[in-house]
Amino acid sequence: VHSGCVRAEISYIMVKPDGVQRGLVGEIVGRFERKGFTLRGLKLFTPGKELAEEHYKDLSQKPFFKDLVDYITSGPVVAMVWEGDGVVKSARKLIGSTNPLEAEPGTIRGDLAVQTGRNVVHGSDSPENGERETALWFGSGSVEQWQPALAPWLR
Ligand code: ADP
Ligand code: MG
Repeated sequence: VHSGCVRAEISYIMVKPDGVQRGLVGEIVGRFERKGFTLRGLKLFTPGKELAEEHYKDLSQKPFFKDLVDYITSGPVVAMVWEGDGVVKSARKLIGSTNPLEAEPGTIRGDLAVQTGRNVVHGSDSPENGERETALWFGSGSVEQWQPALAPWLR
């Protein structure tokens, strides 16, 4: 619950191409829904090289950068924006460690993946990157503004 002038925290969450190919979209979306975050944007499309490179620009000097860009552009992703208090840090916990073999059971990567290079989902690592990545993937100001219609006892 927040007043109209306070911008709530958002995180850019993406089901990567392996997650889409494996039919894990519903499973992954469901975890964020059940946690209680609010879905603000969602679309399925195959990103181009420029978009993937910009998204991962901080990793451009890493030896796996080309493979990473090839992976992310290999097929459709489900790009999403989720909103809520503390959503960035909480989403990182729900997602689990980068290496799925080190991710705790109960996390998305811990339950559903084995390879770092095929770890099914992305989540922003800071509120600033939540804003940056949302603007990059959805365009600034283009995500939906809405409030779930909660029953009075949940408000
Ligand atoms: P995270 O997605 O957990 O924030 P990073 O930002 O460090 O992890 O890396 C971005 C993505 O790059 C990872 O999710 C993974 O898909 C890929 N990646 C990271 N490290 C490696 C690696 N050593 N080998 C191959 N791919 C990697
Ligand atoms: Mg990262």
